[in-house]
Amino acid sequence: MKYCSNCAAELHIAIPEGDNLPRHICRQCDTIHYQNPKIIAGCLPVYQDKVLLCRRAIEPRLGFWTLPAGFMENNESTQQAALRETREEANAEVRLLSLYTMTSIIHVNQVQLIYLAEMDKPEFSTSNESLEVELFAEDEIPWEELAFHTIRNALQYYFEDRKTGTFPLRQIELQGTRYNRP
Ligand code: ZN
Repeated sequence: MKYCSNCAAELHIAIPEGDNLPRHICRQCDTIHYQNPKIIAGCLPVYQDKVLLCRRAIEPRLGFWTLPAGFMENNESTQQAALRETREEANAEVRLLSLYTMTSIIHVNQVQLIYLAEMDKPEFSTSNESLEVELFAEDEIPWEELAFHTIRNALQYYFEDRKTGTFPLRQIELQGTRYNRP
């Protein structure tokens, strides 16, 4: 951020009085532009014994497989965001079951929420954001072609938890390529 979104003056970086972190500050209109993590919401859609993946038509990680997920918009809930992203990326209607993974992706200032979801029918199709959309059984998952660590984690947890049939919320901290499984 270089210019004030309020008055267009050039911004300075400084620690405001009473604060402890550097912020973008406008000296013309006295606005402090706080920057905080963004929320990504998505689904792990399940149909029978298969999960739905999308092959990305957009950067980053174009051509790699992912779960339908994306940035939350203003004026929607995390659940609505997860459903909307699944419609936009896979043209699929799902029923949300529970929040399944919550990942702090520290190095990119993001929090990712993935909901476990069920599909009643195997109905889906490609979109502007997905080159391919497909259902995969566990032994068909393209592990080497997954777009993000968060997606790999969610899928690993899912197939692990499916053995017992209980799907507790998984809280994960990801820092660079390292991640801590609780
Ligand atoms: Zn300003």
